[in-house]
Amino acid sequence: MSGGATVHVVGAGLAGLSCAVRLVGRGVKVVVYEASSRAGGRCRSFHDRVLDRLIDNGNHILLAGNRAVNEYLAAIGATDALTTIRPACFPFLDLESGERWEIRPNTGRLPWWLLVPARRPPGLGLRDLMAVRALATLPHRWPLGVALHCSPAALRRFWEPLAVAVLNTPFAEGDARLLWEVMRETFLRGEEACRPRLAPHGLGAAFVAPAEAHLRARGGEIRFATPVRGIEFSGSRASGLGFDGEVAALGPADQVILAVPPRNARRLLPELQVPMRMRAIINGHFLIGEPRPEGGRFLGLIGGFAQWVFVRGDVASVTISAGDAIADLPNQEIAARMWNDVSRALGITDRALPPHRIVKEKTATIDQTPASVVFRPPAATRWCNVTMAGDWTDTGLPATVEGAIRSGFLAADRVTTSN
Ligand SMILES: Cc1cc2nc3c(=O)[nH]c(=O)nc-3n(C[C@H](O)[C@H](O)[C@H](O)COP(=O)(O)OP(=O)(O)OC[C@H]3O[C@@H](n4cnc5c(N)ncnc54)[C@H](O)[C@@H]3O)c2cc1C
Repeated sequence: MSGGATVHVVGAGLAGLSCAVRLVGRGVKVVVYEASSRAGGRCRSFHDRVLDRLIDNGNHILLAGNRAVNEYLAAIGATDALTTIRPACFPFLDLESGERWEIRPNTGRLPWWLLVPARRPPGLGLRDLMAVRALATLPHRWPLGVALHCSPAALRRFWEPLAVAVLNTPFAEGDARLLWEVMRETFLRGEEACRPRLAPHGLGAAFVAPAEAHLRARGGEIRFATPVRGIEFSGSRASGLGFDGEVAALGPADQVILAVPPRNARRLLPELQVPMRMRAIINGHFLIGEPRPEGGRFLGLIGGFAQWVFVRGDVASVTISAGDAIADLPNQEIAARMWNDVSRALGITDRALPPHRIVKEKTATIDQTPASVVFRPPAATRWCNVTMAGDWTDTGLPATVEGAIRSGFLAADRVTTSN
């Protein structure tokens, strides 16, 4: 990029922040515009008045093999803001049968853990887990229900919970290739790459506040409550950004990164094709009274209403992915049904429903079916100084933190190498 040019980053979610972080690291002048009053987008913390606790909009789980996440945290000085569960362990409870088990991959690339019953869900054969190989060579984008053949036990105890958590889409409809990419970058690289990573002091303290401080310390600017309402074009370039009541002209070498969700992007670039269907994730946070022995950990739940429970301090938080069918239920009903599962999982069924907060993220991610993901756009647009970023763009990965950050890095690379 030529000196004196500015990169205008629209959206201060993790895609926009990671893009800005990489750019200021290269000495580029950056201004970030954020519509809301805070950064973080779909990955944020807030103080909840009912619980009087700092909670996250939703539980986020990262894996140690998420290389863009690692690079981002290192850049903003927040590597220690995530705790890593080592050795990698994914504990489960079947609420119907009462069985508990753990998935414990081994070190090294040869996955001998599949041969050890104590390291894999009960009732699963080796063939059930090796079904993943079929995903490696798919000729087309296929839904998992067509691409992956396994026993009912394997579906219930391994593939379904994994795929729904990763793709936020019902198992049978989920895009097989996207799940394969995650398996390839984590589970198939051995124990170290699939160590779960959690944010014990909240997502804001890990991903957002250090990035804001990092940007400001390097001359980057973040303007909150500043939605970009429109983009003006001239020839093949964007020539101005429209804000409430004014249009700011872009310099001849200025660049624009659009790091906003799909519908917002489409409002700014109407010719853009985007995946329009979104999927919900429902979270419930329960004040359980005292810190628990499983603090800082999580548990997968099978056969219930809740799918995952995370314990942080004296708050137990429940996640239900692909939760569209329940998103319109009254909060009280959702809370009661979640608590029924959580209290059983934690062995505190004698407790009445405690103070709680239900957070419905109705547009948590794009629908990740083959029919939707074909509309993910690449980073490049037909405008020579407009680049796309965001978890929903065509990163090759599912819409996750890793995908969002990778898209931000890619956008930064594109604008710093194209001029
Ligand atoms: C409940 C929940 C649980 C999740 N769990 C996980 C998990 O366990 N693991 C995982 O890896 N991922 C998880 N995710 C996904 C992850 O949070 C997202 O992939 C990631 O945060 C998306 O970042 P983004 O920057 O692409 O988009 P966003 O976070 O949506 O950021 C876009 C930003 O643009 C702003 N904006 C929009 N329009 C404009 C405009 N016109 N002008 C200026 N600003 C604008 C928005 O306010 C927002 O801040 C979860 C998501 C949710 C909601």
